[in-house]
Amino acid sequence: MGKKRRPRLAVWKFASCDGCQLSLLDCEDELLAVADRVEIAYFLEASRATMKGPYDLSLVEGSITTPQDAERIRKVRKASRVLVTIGACATAGGIQALRNFKDVKEFVSIVYARPDYIETLETSTPISDHVPVDFELRGCPINKRQLLEVIQAYLVGRRPNTPSESVCLECKRRGNVCVMVARGTACLGPVTHAGCGAICPSYDRGCYGCFGPMETPNTASLSREWAHLGATDPEIQRVFRGVNAYADAFRKESEAHGK
Ligand code: SF4
Ligand code: SF4
Repeated sequence: MGKKRRPRLAVWKFASCDGCQLSLLDCEDELLAVADRVEIAYFLEASRATMKGPYDLSLVEGSITTPQDAERIRKVRKASRVLVTIGACATAGGIQALRNFKDVKEFVSIVYARPDYIETLETSTPISDHVPVDFELRGCPINKRQLLEVIQAYLVGRRPNTPSESVCLECKRRGNVCVMVARGTACLGPVTHAGCGAICPSYDRGCYGCFGPMETPNTASLSREWAHLGATDPEIQRVFRGVNAYADAFRKESEAHGK
């Protein structure tokens, strides 16, 4: 009897810093087990050797910021049976989506000596704005345990089990003292998707929302609380304009506090 074909895994990069792809390489102990269950067919950060599609599972990092990438993601989608986006850039446009609130042409004219060489879109947008996405894994970068859960879930044919609760619940489980209640530090934990294990509050810092909005976040209520603590509108807007600034809930809340 012939050996069963392993599913083909592809990892794609768009506008991003590579941190989420590194999370896969960072799996170290588990990487060999992953490589045993899937055929790593396209992963330029790991190997120059590539195989032609179609691919069974594509992991996509990065946002769409150029006309070429808007075209390339359509080809990736066509070549992929299941497409999962990984990280804040791919799921929400990333920090580079701050351009969406300003005039890109003005940035380009200030930053580049020859702006006429630059071909870019006015916006940085998530992959789901361009093609259908089967699952979105949040984080900046993503949590490697959650990434392994996504791959494992794919292999056994179920939906990934990633919590939809807020960072506050992880904070409580760790027994942290709440930085907002105890010290009045602005913290996005109440409206941010769990997954990191409440890293920042565990080091006495407020969460800045790198895992993006949780399901049904009450951002207006959190802003009211910060206003009671003395935060001004520009300060509130700034907190929501981080790596997930263009995620719907954070974008709307930031716009409620200024242009
Ligand atoms: S420190 Fe932040 S994440 Fe932790 S309980 Fe308080 S508000 Fe929630
Ligand atoms: S606490 Fe917030 S900002 Fe810090 S790692 Fe977790 S989700 Fe990201």
